Amino acid sequence: MTGHSTSTVQQFELFIDGESVPAASGETIPIIDSATEEAFAEVAAGGADDIDRAVTAAEASTTEWLGMSPPERGRVLNRAAALIRENKDSLAELLTRENGKPISQARTEIEVGARYFEYYAGATDKIQGETIPLGREYVDFTIREPLGVTGHIVPWNFPVSLFARSVAPSLAAGNAVVVKSAEQTPLTSVELGKLLDEAGVPDGTINVVPGYGADAGAALTTHAGVNAIAFTGSVPTGKEVAATAARQLKHVHIEAGGKNPNVVFPDADLDDAIEGTLISIFTRNAGQVCSAGDRLLVHEDIHEEFLDRLVDAVEDLTMGPGLEDPDVGALVSEEQYEKVRSYVEVGKQELGEPVVDGVPDDADETTGYFVGPTIFDGANNDLRIAREEIFGPVLAVIPFSTEEEALEIANDSDYGLSAGIFTNDLERAHRFARDVVAGQVYVNEWFAGGVETPFGGHRDSGFGREKGLEALDQFTTTKNVCLSIGE
Ligand code: NAD
Repeated sequence: MTGHSTSTVQQFELFIDGESVPAASGETIPIIDSATEEAFAEVAAGGADDIDRAVTAAEASTTEWLGMSPPERGRVLNRAAALIRENKDSLAELLTRENGKPISQARTEIEVGARYFEYYAGATDKIQGETIPLGREYVDFTIREPLGVTGHIVPWNFPVSLFARSVAPSLAAGNAVVVKSAEQTPLTSVELGKLLDEAGVPDGTINVVPGYGADAGAALTTHAGVNAIAFTGSVPTGKEVAATAARQLKHVHIEAGGKNPNVVFPDADLDDAIEGTLISIFTRNAGQVCSAGDRLLVHEDIHEEFLDRLVDAVEDLTMGPGLEDPDVGALVSEEQYEKVRSYVEVGKQELGEPVVDGVPDDADETTGYFVGPTIFDGANNDLRIAREEIFGPVLAVIPFSTEEEALEIANDSDYGLSAGIFTNDLERAHRFARDVVAGQVYVNEWFAGGVETPFGGHRDSGFGREKGLEALDQFTTTKNVCLSIGE
């Protein structure tokens, strides 16, 4: 599939106005396989000129996209879902190589990407307004209109599903789209752009411009032709993007980081809680997940037993190149590898040796950006490893004694993205769901929910909601029409 190769390095271009094109500057970005540290591909490095070209094409295309009937647009998005599924194996391999994640997780992510297009395909003919009763002399109704051109800034941790998560509802609502993929993982985005084109999205309605954040990302955020920005990424960038959008009164929503509490009570099914904890922080994308369960709050009565069982389970996990489908793959990049390792050092300074240390003694001599599951026990919520987002397989274990204390610790954070509780006490689960500051609450299963369930944050985790029908609100605006019809 994918790109074309000169020697062994595959070449990828921008996708603008239905065509693969080089960057105006002629520059490229090397894409590194994080398991081998080799550059296996190159992508065109888009900049302000390329963004301008993409936005101009997008503006020109909206008549054609909106000229299609809603069911026709839905059929195009359904074809996109089918094409993504047909190309699952090759897309998954590309995703594993650009990101490092295990191939089975890459396949799952491609399926999730397809599901987003399928889900929002079904919404194209259901984006309805309302009638408002003003009395016999008036007819008043609302129309939910698309915004025009929407800009999508995507991070590297789930390059396929996060592309689909915001692009599918925006297209379903009738917008034209310009995507700025992450510089580490742009290849699958370019391929998704081509598949959408093949599915029948008009030329110019889908554009993918890889590039660096400071170049292509900033140019997209400031472009006067872009009416809305959907941003997913880190808190500092999110704040900058939100401030820039605010200065231009653009629609914007921000999906940023988290430091999420995973609370385990003695009455929980501990097998489920162990399984949930493993996936929450270690085995899903090596913990590089905004909604990871980074803080394990475990009741003091089961603290020792739970930790022993968790350590046993962690010792059974495999780590290796994503293409060999281990439980834990390589981290995405050298930068992320250094960042995670530096947090392991912070943890050692704060708490001494971890119960499980994922940084091998010979880490500096081995190839690939591998850090295994790391567990620091006896943490408290004031430590840096309990407050700052590490974005890797590093867990801070914080014991607690009462439900009130657990809630207080859970909510004592700059973030408010996800929270999870393991308990068989129904009332307690509901109290926790009611009182915890989080956009989504998982009960007895970490990451419970799907493309249908709204997702987003509070506080530094951002604002606005993606996923579910609520995402359509981010990509539409309301027009009220009021007719005076006389007595
Ligand atoms: P990042 O903020 O460094 O980059 C995200 C995107 O923003 C990239 O495409 C980048 O090129 C672009 N960017 C960088 N500077 C920019 C600028 N000045 N203007 C416009 N765009 C710019 O984040 P990252 O390291 O790629 O991603 C990891 C972060 O994303 C974590 O904090 C994680 O929690 C968060 N995240 C959040 C969600 C969510 O749904 N809440 C989902 C996934 C990841």
